[in-house]
Amino acid sequence: MGEFSLITLGVGDAFSALYYSSTLVLEAEGSRLLLDCPHPIRKILREAGQSIGTPLDLDTIDGILLTHLHADHVSGLEGYSYYVHYILKQQPKPLVAHPDVLEYLWTGHLLASMGYPKREDAAERSLNDFFDVKTLPEGESVQVGPFTVECHLTDHVIPTTAFRVTACGRTLGYSADTAYVPELIDWLAASDMIVHETNYGVPHTPYEKLAALPAELREKMRLIHYPDDFNHAESVIEPLVQGQRYVI
Ligand SMILES: [Zn+2]
Repeated sequence: MGEFSLITLGVGDAFSALYYSSTLVLEAEGSRLLLDCPHPIRKILREAGQSIGTPLDLDTIDGILLTHLHADHVSGLEGYSYYVHYILKQQPKPLVAHPDVLEYLWTGHLLASMGYPKREDAAERSLNDFFDVKTLPEGESVQVGPFTVECHLTDHVIPTTAFRVTACGRTLGYSADTAYVPELIDWLAASDMIVHETNYGVPHTPYEKLAALPAELREKMRLIHYPDDFNHAESVIEPLVQGQRYVI
């Protein structure tokens, strides 16, 4: 059985001056998914690829998992889909998200630039012209290549989901943006590796809450979406480093 690994394209928050926004490539059996998609995604991929010694570009990305619609997680979708459509001339690729996340992706985000409401043919354009949309409610799963994907709503300021992604017999749990929610951590705890966000403020998880978790959870937990002044040296949970590959 092959390896299931993640590549850290970015580990920072929306305000970071040091890192790209939190984004991963998931890799198994020669297939790759993006977990969120900030701009400029091709530059972000290229730099991570240089860091790990494996060329990375959109032509080898097979789909996207989308956690929520904050710009630091979705600002690359327009460039991504235009690049796939006009430059690579490939069919729309899978985009997996919860129905509440998908609800305003077109009308509240992409329509203004990709459909332009006043164009005569605007009504003929839709999300489905650019993405193979796969709606993922809680309690169900979606298969994309070798990846089985499940989701769980988090406690954030807009609809947001965590993901459990299984491939090669291993499971990655990804908290996405969320306040501290013990029930969500229980859901993620079934995973072999948990990538959890930490940051300041109400819609995020304070580091102290995660540091107080049982050692067996902390040992398989990695941190992402941390602030620029996060204290790596004193963290009792390993922070992910941008531009690295981690085997799950
Ligand atoms: Zn957010």
